[in-house]
Amino acid sequence: MNDIKSITKTLTDFIAARNWDQFHNPKDLSLALSIEAAELNELFLWKNQKELHTVNEERIREELADVFAYAFMLAAKYKFDVKEIIMEKMEKNGKKYPVEKSKNLAKKYTDFE
Ligand SMILES: [Mg+2]
Repeated sequence: MNDIKSITKTLTDFIAARNWDQFHNPKDLSLALSIEAAELNELFLWKNQKELHTVNEERIREELADVFAYAFMLAAKYKFDVKEIIMEKMEKNGKKYPVEKSKNLAKKYTDFE
């Protein structure tokens, strides 16, 4: 079993043991993902550039894990292959952001000249 499948299995086993799948509809998984992302953002809230190093890395690890967990659970709900959907999206991103147009530029592709 590859790493991605083993992550998904750990999550689905955890959920199955608690019979929580009944609560895990796509809408609520998506909301939970967004809420966990907000919890991650909260760690950085009001910190200026010089203060960013003061954010507790253990808290970042935990909130990032929550974000990943809900993302994996949402993917599992749709039976998406996580590696496949990331690879497909990166291929699209590569076309939207060709190196010659986007290198050293923090602009959205719609704002390219
Ligand atoms: Mg959290």
